[in-house]
Amino acid sequence: MNIHEYQAKDLYRQYGIATGEGYPALTVAEAVEAAKKLPGPVWVVKAQIHAGGRGKGKFKEADAGSAGGVRLAKSVAEVETFAKQMLGKTLVTLQTGDAGKQVNRLYIEQGSAIARELYLSMLVDRSTSRVAFIASTEGGMNIEEVAHETPEKIITFSVDPASGYSAFHGRKLALALGLEGDLASQMVKMGGNLYRMFVEKDMSLLEINPLVVTKDDKLVCLDGKINFDSNALFRQKEVVALRDLTEEDPAEIEASKHDLAYVKLDGTIGCLVNGAGLAMSTMDIIKLYGLEPANFLDVGGSASKEKVREAFKIILNDPNVNGILVNIFGGIMRCDIIAEGVVAAARELGVKVPLVVRLEGTNVELGKEIMAASGLKIVSADDLEDAAKKITAEVKKAA
Ligand code: GDP
Ligand code: MN
Repeated sequence: MNIHEYQAKDLYRQYGIATGEGYPALTVAEAVEAAKKLPGPVWVVKAQIHAGGRGKGKFKEADAGSAGGVRLAKSVAEVETFAKQMLGKTLVTLQTGDAGKQVNRLYIEQGSAIARELYLSMLVDRSTSRVAFIASTEGGMNIEEVAHETPEKIITFSVDPASGYSAFHGRKLALALGLEGDLASQMVKMGGNLYRMFVEKDMSLLEINPLVVTKDDKLVCLDGKINFDSNALFRQKEVVALRDLTEEDPAEIEASKHDLAYVKLDGTIGCLVNGAGLAMSTMDIIKLYGLEPANFLDVGGSASKEKVREAFKIILNDPNVNGILVNIFGGIMRCDIIAEGVVAAARELGVKVPLVVRLEGTNVELGKEIMAASGLKIVSADDLEDAAKKITAEVKKAA
């Protein structure tokens, strides 16, 4: 789960982490009010969308002005102008895809006098099973580019969870970022607060780009991109309250209500699979046979008939889907349960696109019987390759 920059900055404040002063705004009037509460003489008007690269982004609408989603204003009047230009408009950045994202919210911030822009992020490093820090002097830039062109400028290390964060880690960060004297002390303290926040809030990623040194030698987090571990949301009520559903895909919201692992993709073949690994290989083989998957969908190891029905509904409601491949390996999940769910959903909603089903494992015969007795037009497949071939052929035939 992601949150907005302004929400990330509220969390920084809760943990005593230095950040700019500012207020969110949903309307032009609120933006002006926010600007008046700040001293100026420079304000920053920032689009709040769940995507990075806003500064270098471009708006689709001609009347949104030529600048991107992060703008420096020299007066309250200019804040008003920018707010009018940006609110309700569509911002396209490197991370939004061509469709862009509608800007429904702004963050009005006191402008900082920046001396240097640095990069700092934290993530759960699966290879070491630890929380890792990633630091670079090349802040404000696209970090993937830095990693590609000057990898030596990125310093990474992890923290042993048993002993936790200590000043030693902070000094490592300061060294990596070229911070000395009082700035190094600020880094040591900030690193500790960041680590505590990261662990206490069950974050999986925190990216501060840029972390800045101001002209009066203060270390300030000027941006905040945070992902939370969805598996921990049950114990993070305050985090869940920050969720902005307008930023999420409606089908993905529906899927999460039924505890389905669903990710919408751009292709045309809907996939209903049990197990993440099997779902990945199903997507791979669809691509191998020249088509593109419309989604990733893992119904899980022990789905009920109702859950399968909801999953199937979500796929059927995607207008891009022109064929469906159900690929189930019955272990704990029984094939007859899947068959009942698929048949129920197909009856309820009607399937107008080709449907290929590959079942294997526990109660496979019973599952096949249920499918055959349903009267629905279902093409049965024996293995994964057979299934991919059949869906390709069926989709071609239907076109
Ligand atoms: P992003 O493009 O989505 O990553 O948005 P950021 O919040 O990182 O802002 C992009 C850039 O705008 C930063 O790298 C800074 O160069 C600039 N910027 C942001 N806030 C300020 C500020 O308060 N003062 C100044 N001078 N520049 C800022
Ligand atoms: Mn940034």
